[in-house]
Amino acid sequence: MNSPIIKCKDLSYSYSGNAALNQISFSCESAEPIGLVGPNGAGKSTLLSILCGFLQNISGSVTIFGHKPGSPALSGRVSALPQDAQLDPTFSVGEQLQFYARLQGLSTQQARLEVSRVLEAVGLKDALKEKPSALSHGMSKRSAIAQALIGKPELILLDEPTAGLDPVNTRKIRAIIAELSPATSFIISSHDLAELGRLCQQVLLLDKGMMSSMQLNAPEDNSPTRFFTLQMEPCPATELLAKLQQIAGIIQVSNPQKNEFIIEYKTDKDSKMDLKILTCISDNDWQYRQLSQGKTLEEKLFFDGV
Ligand code: ADP
Repeated sequence: MNSPIIKCKDLSYSYSGNAALNQISFSCESAEPIGLVGPNGAGKSTLLSILCGFLQNISGSVTIFGHKPGSPALSGRVSALPQDAQLDPTFSVGEQLQFYARLQGLSTQQARLEVSRVLEAVGLKDALKEKPSALSHGMSKRSAIAQALIGKPELILLDEPTAGLDPVNTRKIRAIIAELSPATSFIISSHDLAELGRLCQQVLLLDKGMMSSMQLNAPEDNSPTRFFTLQMEPCPATELLAKLQQIAGIIQVSNPQKNEFIIEYKTDKDSKMDLKILTCISDNDWQYRQLSQGKTLEEKLFFDGV
């Protein structure tokens, strides 16, 4: 049987007696991208540093592909993109990536091919001879991702890969991750819950050094109820709530934020509940923006009590 990608058991870490991680346990078995969320100071960077093998004095146990972080057996199999990773401004992108590829034991010729492969993967083929200072913030981030891709690692840890990026570059980075998954596994620390909801099957939530893990899109077949999230154009909320609650099979409707409604309904394959909801909206001449199955990741993580 294959070892889990990551297995943590009762993992704790303290900085000078101050606990940053408190007996966290989780296992990542699937190669699909895994999200890591939590407020600032929750312990995300500490966990990523432990997984990289940078912090050693842990208590409890942690393994990656069955080996201790930082062990020679993981060399070339795991790489990381720290939050503020930047290439050296003095040398061209190509020279630096080539250097990192050589450090991984590739010959000059292999390194040249590998650099061209990773730059192509992040859409920066033309940046080979550029100095990092000539790149935009989004291009710099992608060049740092290119560095993390060198040698085709099986697991890549990305700390805030899209922080501060414009929507176009955010989308490009999301596409890079989606393209390389699941052949490459990713752990992505991010505050962007919509992005993690799109990319990830599992989300790890850290808060004050404590962790909970959640499988997204898990089959709900045994559950007696399901949820829709309905986003409306401006509409009379009280009236909409009342009308939706009259539909047979709807158990309850909440209005957690302006123009957003969470609808819980009885699981019944023949209910055509989506059609009933849309018909109700249309009959009342209201306009909807989006009707999606399940709850948003934000709702699941912070208002469901995982
Ligand atoms: P996050 O990445 O979720 O923002 P961190 O892992 O950086 O959280 O921090 C977790 C806790 O550990 C915080 O209370 C932070 O102040 C503390 N901490 C992080 N790095 C250090 C350090 N080098 N020395 C002392 N305390 C630290």
